[in-house]
Parts: sequence; C-alpha cells; structure tokens
Amino acid sequence: MHEVSVMSNLLEIVTATADREGAGTIDVIHLRIGEMAGINFDSLEFAFEILSKGTKAEGGRLEYERVALMGRCSACSSEFHPEDLVFRCPECGSGGVEISAGREMEVDYILLDEEGS
Ligand SMILES: [Zn+2]
Repeated sequence: MHEVSVMSNLLEIVTATADREGAGTIDVIHLRIGEMAGINFDSLEFAFEILSKGTKAEGGRLEYERVALMGRCSACSSEFHPEDLVFRCPECGSGGVEISAGREMEVDYILLDEEGS
C-alpha cells in the first residue's frame, strides 16, 4: 500500500519537528492532498493509526483538505479546472496545459502540545 510509505515519511518529518520544538505530543496533523495525488485518505489514516504507535503523534488527529485539480494554459495563462480530465484550455483551445495544483501531498500545519506528557 502506497499510503504506508507516504505516512512513514510524513511521520518522520512531523516527529522531527516536534523534537526540534521540544513538544511533548502532536495533537493535529493537517494535510493538503491534491485530487490527483493518488492518495486514499482512509488508507492514509489507517497507516497513521499503525505507524504512529510509540511516536509523539500517537493519539493525535489526522486532518486534511482536498486541493482541486487546476490546469494552467501555457498559451494564454488562464487557469481552469479540467473537467473529466480533459486537458484543453477552455479559453483558447490550446492543448498545452500544465497542472498548477492538485498533485500535492504535503503537511499544511501541525499543532503541538507544548506541555508534554
Ligand atoms: Zn488558453
């Protein structure tokens, strides 16, 4: 399961941050997950439950927001949401479209418990 390795990397990052900040535990991990990131949140949460055991993130809450897929036309620079994954500019009809958002899988912020336990 892809989500297990994603979560494993993610926990390394957030627990390193918690250590650096001298926090006791991690209360909330808030993610930004793109529509096209290929991440299933339920699987991610399942991986979190297992992998966070014994770390500062154990008992913490995993939250996320979905980032909509957006394309940017390289000909006229207009931004749009590609319907049905059709990557063609609705303004000028150009097929030269870059994905400008929707592939991210990143930590937006984490909330730490300063008190420790
Ligand atoms: Zn265009």
